[in-house]
This record gives sequence, C-alpha cells and structure tokens, in this order.
Amino acid sequence: MSNLNSEILAQRLEKVKNDILSNCWDKNNPPSLVAVTKTVDANIINMLPPLGQIDIGENRAQSIVEKLPQIDKKINIHYIGRLQTNKIKYIINDICLVHSLDRPRLADELNKQALKSGLNIPVLVQVNIAQEAQKSGFEKNEAYSFIKKAKDYPALSIKGLMAMMPFIDDELQLATYFKAMRNMFDDIRQAAYPNVVMEHLSMGMTNDFKIAVSEGSTMVRVGSALFV
Ligand SMILES: *Cc1c(COP(=O)(O)O)cnc(C)c1O
Repeated sequence: MSNLNSEILAQRLEKVKNDILSNCWDKNNPPSLVAVTKTVDANIINMLPPLGQIDIGENRAQSIVEKLPQIDKKINIHYIGRLQTNKIKYIINDICLVHSLDRPRLADELNKQALKSGLNIPVLVQVNIAQEAQKSGFEKNEAYSFIKKAKDYPALSIKGLMAMMPFIDDELQLATYFKAMRNMFDDIRQAAYPNVVMEHLSMGMTNDFKIAVSEGSTMVRVGSALFV
C-alpha cells in the first residue's frame, strides 16, 4: 500500500473497469464503481477524481469525519457499513447514499433526523440473502414488508437493494444468491411501491464482482483490488 501512486492506481482502476465491462449485461450502460477507501488516507483518496473516479465508500462514521476536511469536494461519499443510530448526526449532511439500511430502527431514526434537518436521504435496503447469522440486513421477506411501507418514511428515498455475499469459493452458489437479489430487484421495481424507485442493485466486491455483474448488479463496491 505504501507504494501506491497515481499511475498504479490508474492501472488498477482500468483493470477493474474492464472486468466490469466485459462481464456486464449492457456495455452501453455498465454498472458503476464505488471505490471502497476504508483502508486508505485522504492523500490516496484525492488521487481518484483526476482519474475519473469520484464515488467512494466508507464504512465508519468516525473515518468520514476525519477524512472529510482533507478530501476533494468533488467526491461523493457512500456509506456502506453498519450505521449506529448515535452516529447518524455526524454524517447525515455528507453522504450521497446509504447502502446499509439494515433494520427498521435505523430507518426510523434516519427518517426522524432527516426530517429535522430538512433533508432527503437516498438509501438502499440491505438484504441478508444467504441468511447468515453473523451478517446484518433484512431477511428477504422482512425486506418486502419494509419496502411496502416505504411511504411511512417520507424523508428517505428507497433507491434499491444492497447485499454482501458469504465468503465462499463456490461460484455457482454465489451466482444463485446474486440471481435471487436481481429477481427481487426486478420484482420490486415492477410492483412500483410508493416512495420506492429501484435504481441501484449494489452487489459485488473484490472477490466476487465479476460474478455479481454477470448476474445483473448495477453497482459494485471494490476496495482491495484497488488499494491493497
Ligand atoms: C470493505 C467492503 C467492501 C470492499 O471489499 P473488498 O473485498 O476490499 O473489495 C465492500 N462492501 C462493504 C460493505 C465493505 O465493508
């Protein structure tokens, strides 16, 4: 990581983008890339905009608070980690999309604080598609019930779904989970629930983004392949 410079970063970005392009459904409208910068400092983050990468992902409120004063104002910060309700106030003004809306209590609190600040917060509903005990996220059926009640959260805009896959090597099994997410995404989009616009299906990380994209992901979150 200490050797990382703009040239190396440019090559890695190009490689990831080519891998996205060669595996995606529509080459005219490829999935977008969120560069997950949780392991790198502001000086590395600031190499990204000149390389055409302005979307970054962070998973801790504290880290956003620390990096924000030092990073290029053009950068869009995506919140991708578990968000504690007592940390919402530190980041609510500075994030473009919360990928990790994983429980009703967080929705209640985000909505409340957004209303108070006159904000509208774009969010993705995180689904624990593989039903892993240690992972956060709504179970599939809970996610449906929650999304059907989206109009109860007027200060949130539900813009899609997010999932994190199990750490397994079985590509067929992974593809099954990604497919299940894409089916859910299409199904909810078709149903057109009030206050729900299915724009983003956020899935795919360094180890599995090619499979994710080949199964219909519209947004990948990649860290290690760029920064490690
Ligand atoms: C760290 C992280 C990523 C990126 O993972 P890599 O394997 O480094 O690409 C993506 N999504 C979330 C939620 C993360 O915490």
